[in-house]
Amino acid sequence: MNISGKAKAQHTYDVIVIGSGISGGWAAKEFCEKGYKTLVLERGRMVKHLEDYPTAMQDPWQFRHRGELPEAVTTNNPIASRCYAFDETTQHFFVKDQEHPYVQEKPFDWIKGYQVGGKSLLWARQTQRWSDYEFEAPARDGFAIDWPIRYKDLAPWYSYVEKFVGISGTKDQIPNLPDSEVLPAFEMNALEKHLKERIEASYPDRHVIIGRCAHLTAPQKIHVAQGRGQCMARHLCHRGCPFGAYFSSNSSTLPWADATGNLTLLTNQVVESILYDEQKGKAIGVRTVDSKTKLVKEFYARVIFVNASALNTNLILLNSKSARFPQGLGNDNGLLGHYIAFHNYRGNILASFDGLRDQYYYGRRPTSIFMPSFRNVFRQETDFLRGYMIAFSASRAGWSQQLEGIGSDYKDQLTEAGPWQVFMMMQGETIPRYENHVRLSDLEKDSWGIPQLITSVDYTDNDLKLMHDFLEQGSAMLEQSGCKVTARIDRKDAPGLDIHEMGGVRMGKDPKTSLLNKWNQLHQCKNVFVTDGACMTSTGNQNPSLTYMALTARAVDYAAMALQKNDGTV
Ligand SMILES: Cc1cc2nc3c(=O)[nH]c(=O)nc-3n(C[C@H](O)[C@H](O)[C@H](O)COP(=O)(O)OP(=O)(O)OC[C@H]3O[C@@H](n4cnc5c(N)ncnc54)[C@H](O)[C@@H]3O)c2cc1C
Repeated sequence: MNISGKAKAQHTYDVIVIGSGISGGWAAKEFCEKGYKTLVLERGRMVKHLEDYPTAMQDPWQFRHRGELPEAVTTNNPIASRCYAFDETTQHFFVKDQEHPYVQEKPFDWIKGYQVGGKSLLWARQTQRWSDYEFEAPARDGFAIDWPIRYKDLAPWYSYVEKFVGISGTKDQIPNLPDSEVLPAFEMNALEKHLKERIEASYPDRHVIIGRCAHLTAPQKIHVAQGRGQCMARHLCHRGCPFGAYFSSNSSTLPWADATGNLTLLTNQVVESILYDEQKGKAIGVRTVDSKTKLVKEFYARVIFVNASALNTNLILLNSKSARFPQGLGNDNGLLGHYIAFHNYRGNILASFDGLRDQYYYGRRPTSIFMPSFRNVFRQETDFLRGYMIAFSASRAGWSQQLEGIGSDYKDQLTEAGPWQVFMMMQGETIPRYENHVRLSDLEKDSWGIPQLITSVDYTDNDLKLMHDFLEQGSAMLEQSGCKVTARIDRKDAPGLDIHEMGGVRMGKDPKTSLLNKWNQLHQCKNVFVTDGACMTSTGNQNPSLTYMALTARAVDYAAMALQKNDGTV
């Protein structure tokens, strides 16, 4: 491509951010606020807050299939259909299977949201901080590599992003789940309070808390300034929130960045690769393919943040080949794409509870209750490594329960809530392994001529042991609390359906064993930063996105200072 000086100037910015999802939105907000001309390149279409939430205010009877998907859609989209949030009301925010194929060397359910806002429109908004029990785990237990940072490095950045995002929850003073900056919590219902009381009495090291989530229960000045309002507990969040009550890039970081006048957001721009200048020894920009016209363009900047979500970030770096980096940008050690890990969601437990029939609850709370990890926290105590957190909730069976009778008898039954039931799920840490990797296909390309990604990721015995432990411990806690366990389920999900894929471009102290340094900078190409899930050295058991946001804000702070100093650090 030959472009004139003027055109080049028009395509030149201070910073390029690849991807407009949770982490890219944060990178854009931070750079724009600091006065840097920032270009966000997004492969998907525009989704404007409020304007582009077509189903947000629709009632069930307004959907042709009452919210369910017709068989033709599920048959054509076996991967997307396995995600609990994919239905008639939300399908427009999911990538359809055939649009973006990839090669599953081993089964991997890759769930994607390619649009402005990425998966921030779809996430379940659960947000927990990591503690040093996670940051120190690899060094303590001898897996992966040591993290180059500790909790104290991230703590102020957790506070910083939490205040802007708005996190509802309680301060619980649990050592392995540091307190967040919180707004008022949602309430537990009667059975959940009963479970909390009984479990905490029988197991002093196990805590039952209300889920911390990115919802505005009491908007503060900073949230009102973003144009966001209070959560109405409709729990229709996956359609886009007309109140801006849950955090998404669309309702929060992107409009904030835009208001500075420093943001340029280009949609339908698939980043194909990062351009490396051999003479300068730096990245100079990116090459994109227009998703509609297939026109190839180049954009230039002094700093590049890669926030395309974990696996796409791996793909872009692997595809950024040059004479200096024939195996992909920054990949001198050949580890790019390796040590992919995820969260183990395989175990579910169902239970019933006979009692509390005169207790009701109101509204559709958009969170559940949580038990932070209690296994192998303070010392190694099982024959598997690491642990799991538990998400659970109690509810009363609704009108869909099978009722018997006829006439007024039947109608009377319809006015009563059904019996109590409990649903419990695990979120387990997995151990990053070299064998679990992604790489580029030599044969298969996508519609834009970019090599498809091959996923080769699997469970290990450790994951199965962890799941069995959850099924045993979860059942025991429920039975101890007076519930009757009705099902212990191994869902046998493929990795990926957790939608917490991480790794491949891990942080570390040593360039021989890691790709990124403690500032999320590529060791070998200092003006390229990766702050999405690809940077994760290990997975912890907590929901990951809050950590991506904190890492992003911290890395931007560092990059901005380096840009200002202009001392060659970036
Ligand atoms: C149903 C569901 C529930 C979830 N629940 C939770 C939860 O409760 N808590 C939690 O912490 N996490 C949750 N997650 C995961 C969470 O959504 C992700 O961790 C988070 O969105 C990752 O942020 P990101 O910026 O890395 O990627 P994304 O938000 O996915 O954004 C990446 C963006 O990059 C764009 N992009 C990709 N490739 C390119 C390219 N080549 N060129 C240009 N643009 C590109 C994409 O279109 C997208 O807009 C959930 C996800 C889903 C789907």
